[in-house]
Amino acid sequence: MKSFVYTGYASRVVFGEGAIAQLPAEVERLGATRALVLSTPEQAASVRQVAASLGARAAGVYDKAAMHVPLEIAEDARRAARELGADCCVTVGGGSTTGLGKAIALTSSLPIIAVPTTYAGSEMTPIYGLTEGGMKKTGRDARVLPKTVIYDPALTLTLPAALSAASGMNAIAHCVEALYAQDGNPIVSLMAEEGIRALAASLPIITKNPNDLGARGEALYGAWLAGVSLGSAGMALHHKLCHTLGGSFNLPHAETHAIVLPHAARYNRDAAREAMARVARALGTKDAPTGLYDLEAKLGIRMKLSEIGMQRADLERAASIATESPYPNPRPVDRAGVLALLRDAYEGRRPEA
Ligand code: NAD
Repeated sequence: MKSFVYTGYASRVVFGEGAIAQLPAEVERLGATRALVLSTPEQAASVRQVAASLGARAAGVYDKAAMHVPLEIAEDARRAARELGADCCVTVGGGSTTGLGKAIALTSSLPIIAVPTTYAGSEMTPIYGLTEGGMKKTGRDARVLPKTVIYDPALTLTLPAALSAASGMNAIAHCVEALYAQDGNPIVSLMAEEGIRALAASLPIITKNPNDLGARGEALYGAWLAGVSLGSAGMALHHKLCHTLGGSFNLPHAETHAIVLPHAARYNRDAAREAMARVARALGTKDAPTGLYDLEAKLGIRMKLSEIGMQRADLERAASIATESPYPNPRPVDRAGVLALLRDAYEGRRPEA
């Protein structure tokens, strides 16, 4: 067996329907008495109920979390945490809310209890992002890894079907890239393959019936494994493209991942045969790129970059930005190949089998 390095990140996971009831005990377990609860404006009403369950242990609610953690909001939230004398952060939401908690933890070392309500997976990674003047910077720091994660499928029932599907494909993308990562290893591959299997099995049920708690639980379990995969293995061309499209062209995070993934997999297919065989096996198909595309078609996901705000005239510039300082990738990254990939994603073409 080839040599490898595996880094396990320590966090405690409380998983299950109704697990949110454990939040007060988990805050107490950290020795915290003044929790600042974070949310987006859209989820503020339901998050206030979660804060109320903390009674005197809630220091307040900060409900201005926004996509990609704008620096002004991070600084405002840090100020709120200081002024309220917070000694821990509870994030209730998707990657944007978890990300705001991470921004606070980065400068204050406050512990985070994350309660994810999408499948983004940020709760399992020591990766943070901050956006200043339209430029997103990311980094790794052990202080931002949540100490405790509470996964409660009941909190995901309100995630609309379309966002559930796109967010689930965002999670599958973490797994696919972990399977062919330059620094991948057999342990992460186990989790990545199982993550794809769990998400591919549950997402079609969720898009038909968003209230199916069993499927919601299986998707959240898959998202957990995907988050570990993202945190433990370096990401490649697919994530580079999505960062470019989100960062420089303002395309929505989860939907961009969903649209690009089958095409990025097609780009890498022949250079990462073993990984692709595992992706296909987890999907229950013969070929990974077409299997991913067909799963998305079944989920009713928008399949074209042209449908989510990309302009045809910007494809050349996107290809240049994405190939300027590429991440390690199984197949060498060349501009012509990436431009062809982007054109396919723009038109939503089914990858060749
Ligand atoms: P999001 O957190 O931006 O949420 C999208 C919208 O859905 C928000 O309005 C949110 O309030 C709402 N929402 C979330 N859960 C809901 C629920 N259960 N019911 C109803 N509405 C709900 O979206 P996301 O895709 O989870 O996160 C994207 C962000 O996370 C990006 O900025 C991305 O870069 C970041 N991210 C970071 C990491 C990391 O490791 N640092 C990993 C993945 C994603």
